[in-house]
Amino acid sequence: MRASAQIRKRGALSKLSDLIWPPRSLLSDAFVDRPGVIEPALWAELHFLSAPVCACCGFPLPENGDPEAVCGACAGAKPVYDTARAALAYDDHARRLILDLKRGGRRDGLPVFARWMVAAAAPMLERADFIAPTPMHWTRLAVRSFNQAAWLAQALSESCGKPWKPGALTRFKRRKSQAGLSASERRRNVGGAIRASARCKGKIVVVVDDVFTTGATLEACARALRKAGAAEVHGLTLARVVRPADIVA
Ligand SMILES: [Zn+2]
Repeated sequence: MRASAQIRKRGALSKLSDLIWPPRSLLSDAFVDRPGVIEPALWAELHFLSAPVCACCGFPLPENGDPEAVCGACAGAKPVYDTARAALAYDDHARRLILDLKRGGRRDGLPVFARWMVAAAAPMLERADFIAPTPMHWTRLAVRSFNQAAWLAQALSESCGKPWKPGALTRFKRRKSQAGLSASERRRNVGGAIRASARCKGKIVVVVDDVFTTGATLEACARALRKAGAAEVHGLTLARVVRPADIVA
C-alpha cells in the first residue's frame, strides 16, 4: 500500500476509534479524559524553552541578565531572518510529537502546540501582519496529502488571532528530504527553492514550521521574503534542536 493511502487509512481508523475508545495521551498509550492532553508525569518531562535565549535565533543561553545577548553563531554571522523562537527543545518527547504529526497525520495535539508556540513568541506574534507556513513542494504534498507546517500555522492563527496565508511562500523546486544532511548540505539543498508572494512587501511575517534544525529552511524562506520586500521575517517552530547530535535525527 502506498504511504499516502496508509496515512489516509490510519486517519480514518483513528477517527473511528475516537468514537469507540477514549482518547490517548499525546506521548503514550495512556487513556486521557480528552484529546490533545498529556499525563502529568510526562508533561513534567517536556523541555520548554524560555529565557534566557539568544535574542536572535532563540538558542538557550546561560543566565547573564542581558535580554539582548546573542549566541556565538549569531554574533559571528547574523542570520537573514530577524528572530526565531521555539516552544520545545528537540528531545525524545518532542521527536515523538513531531513524528506523530508529520508522519502519522495526528491532529489532536495542534491546539495545545499552538498555545505553547504563542507562549514562546507572544511579542513576535503581536508585531506580525500574518503567519506563513513553510511550504512543501506540490509533488510531496500530493504524496503526503497534508503539510504539517500549514496545520501548525492554521492552529496558531486560531490561537493568536493573526491571519495565516498558505500561499505566501511556495516551494517551486523539489529537493531531497533534509533528514540526515549536515548544516552546510541543508543550506545547499534548500537554497533557491522557495519563492515569496508580492503581497509580502512591507509586511512583518512569521514563518511557521514543525522543527528548527540548523535554520537552513528558515534562512531560505527569509531570503525569499526579503527579496519580495518583507519588512521583517521571524521564525516560530514547535521544537528546536539544541544539541548538534540531534541534527541528523
Ligand atoms: Zn543565536
